[in-house]
Amino acid sequence: MNKISIRGTLWIASDIHLGENVPRTAQAFYEFLARARRDADALILCGDIFDAWIGDDHALRRPPAWLAQAIEQLRATAQAIPLWLAHGNRDFLMGPALVQALGARLLTAPTHLDTDAGNILLAHGDEYCTDDVHYQRFRRVVHTPWVQSVFLALPLGLRRAIARGARARSRQARYRKTLRIMDVQPQAIERALREAGCTQMIHGHTHRPAVHDILVDGRAARRYVLPDWECDQADPVRGGWIEVDARGIRLIAQVPPRDPPD
Ligand code: MN
Repeated sequence: MNKISIRGTLWIASDIHLGENVPRTAQAFYEFLARARRDADALILCGDIFDAWIGDDHALRRPPAWLAQAIEQLRATAQAIPLWLAHGNRDFLMGPALVQALGARLLTAPTHLDTDAGNILLAHGDEYCTDDVHYQRFRRVVHTPWVQSVFLALPLGLRRAIARGARARSRQARYRKTLRIMDVQPQAIERALREAGCTQMIHGHTHRPAVHDILVDGRAARRYVLPDWECDQADPVRGGWIEVDARGIRLIAQVPPRDPPD
């Protein structure tokens, strides 16, 4: 497990799903990044920052305009405050070349955070959806190092087609799955908290922002769920983040309001 220590005000966001067809979501997120550079001491983007990731080379060599802009925004943020990118279930192929180009750092697994609000277990969340047996099988395969190496060695066009196919299949499968199957599994959460020795947890992935009070071995614990970002299709728009500081952990489930012009 990763272990990082962060003092001061930490902001955490996830599930922005940046891609070529979400200009309003991207704009809201870039306003959030500008606020983070000003108001936060550190930022963690906890997975599914991008709707798909087919290789660092694609992003760094000749990125399409939307991706070039995303990279520029992340780079500007990493220059101002420490920035960590964590893997989600869609952008798990973000690699060392990307974070090096950004001046950011990569979290590849659940992370033990030491903060001014105490110890927190941080994860994307898909690893706790253990009732979704099909997804967990897919996850094991695509997290196998040799499978990733083979995929990343394929020509870009082929990688793009495979990613598109996987997205379509996952969209199809969602119709057959119940909401319970797609949520985190309580025992998996308890096990993770027990193993990490934490009573606080933050994760995203389920798109169900909330604060849950739970019991782990008779001890009170709290699970915070990050919102997803959607400002192109959704009305009202969705977005938000979690703020961690000496006063505690707060869920802010709203798109950052536009700053008034100076
Ligand atoms: Mn996700």
